[in-house]
Amino acid sequence: MLYQSTRGDNSKVASAEAIAHGLADDGGLFVPESFPKLTLGRIAELTTEPYYKRAAYIMGLFLKDFSKEVINSYSKAAYSIEGVNHFYNDKIAPLKKLDKSTHFLELWHGPTCAFKDMALQVMPGLLTASLRKTGEAKDVCVLVATSGDTGKAALEGFRDVAGTSVIVFYPRDGVSEVQKLQMTSQSGSNVNVIAVAGNFDDAQTGVKAIFQDVDLSNELGKTGYILSSANSINWGRLVPQIVYYISAYCDLFKSGEIELGDKINFCVPTGNFGNILSAYYAEKMGLPINKLICASNRNDVLTQFINTGVYDRNRPFFATVSPSMDILVSSNLERLLFELSDRNGDIVSAYMKDLSYKGLYTIPSSVRNELNRVFDSGFCSEEDTMETIKETFENSDYLIDTHTAVAYKVLNDYREKTNDKSISVVVSTASPFKFCEAVLEALGQPKSGSGVTLIEKLSDVTGNVVPMPLISLENAIPRFKNSVAVSGMKASVLDFIKER
Ligand SMILES: *Cc1c(COP(=O)(O)O)cnc(C)c1O
Repeated sequence: MLYQSTRGDNSKVASAEAIAHGLADDGGLFVPESFPKLTLGRIAELTTEPYYKRAAYIMGLFLKDFSKEVINSYSKAAYSIEGVNHFYNDKIAPLKKLDKSTHFLELWHGPTCAFKDMALQVMPGLLTASLRKTGEAKDVCVLVATSGDTGKAALEGFRDVAGTSVIVFYPRDGVSEVQKLQMTSQSGSNVNVIAVAGNFDDAQTGVKAIFQDVDLSNELGKTGYILSSANSINWGRLVPQIVYYISAYCDLFKSGEIELGDKINFCVPTGNFGNILSAYYAEKMGLPINKLICASNRNDVLTQFINTGVYDRNRPFFATVSPSMDILVSSNLERLLFELSDRNGDIVSAYMKDLSYKGLYTIPSSVRNELNRVFDSGFCSEEDTMETIKETFENSDYLIDTHTAVAYKVLNDYREKTNDKSISVVVSTASPFKFCEAVLEALGQPKSGSGVTLIEKLSDVTGNVVPMPLISLENAIPRFKNSVAVSGMKASVLDFIKER
């Protein structure tokens, strides 16, 4: 199992190298040269295993240069309910049944209460092991651009991991109060958190520019550091995400909700396209999937793309109540384009050139057919997001966050449009307590106080218990108060490294 770039450089590397380097030398993203196949018999066998064993098996299919024992030990450590830094639900990624054809896959029972933990609890181990395997003697400085949830999950995953430092850049006015305090109060001796004057795309562009800055990388090299990324451009982020789609299928089979081989839908609240791409990879491995429904908020650039074949980022950017999806340039779409274009890197390269020079590209109808074979899409307005939270709570006594609400509304619209009766799984990406301000407003509660003081209030109003990792947040003290312009990001990396 080797990896190659999405942009036409056909040299192949092992998974350790793909994970250690993050981006391919030609600027493309690493993709596996083929997809391992998963038979129904194998799915049935996985059904009897706990989550960490399902994860070890599936990750092992992609990480062939790691021994089974090593992967098993990382998986066991990551998906455990014991220890300081851990999951607080023994199923790890449990399903909640709402009605006979609707289930919610809750991916937020990890230490930071959002789905990013599913990958970032295991990825730091994979990254440090990959660096050792590739003979890299330098320490690694992990740069993260976050729309709110990746930052905290990376900080938790990498904090005090020997040989690593982590710097998180978040959009100053683009994250929820809870997200912000979770990050700025982070403990650990190897971490830094910096606000950027701009939105997520600005922060992500700034980080990409730092990666391409040869002078900077030489200077860091002299101080004994190399740069790496914990964003979902890194293969080490995607492979653990394939697992929960397969695991959800196992659980539906196990509980008798489906027969082995039945095709199901997943509806995924989408931003950078990493989560839903992992579902597509599961489909390519043979998981019986009918449709993958890509749900956008008001920043509906992906919905437009799936419906028209034109990706056009020349549009206004909206700050919404689902901030982790406020993204106009979805990095991982590049990996999908590669598959859709018969793995022709020259074609993908041309799209990416168009995107950077003109801000848009168009795929031909042949490619659109393949796209629409698997994907459907829709978007959800701010009002509908709020209405969906309220209705779901009132009708089903089930509390969902703003991102999950976007997906649930889009699923309902899809059902109305197509009359598709397949069992559908809404991918639930964050605890409602992370977005308590918006959720309380949706429930019609009068405004009182702000930020973390509302965590307790949401619990009082709904009777839901506060997730364990958020209980102490009310007393947390911000440690990191720096704010920089996009042009100051590079200098802040150098300053931090020099002080270490
Ligand atoms: C990151 C995130 C998303 C978007 O996931 P992508 O992989 O970027 O598409 C959706 N919801 C929440 C809560 C997130 O943190």
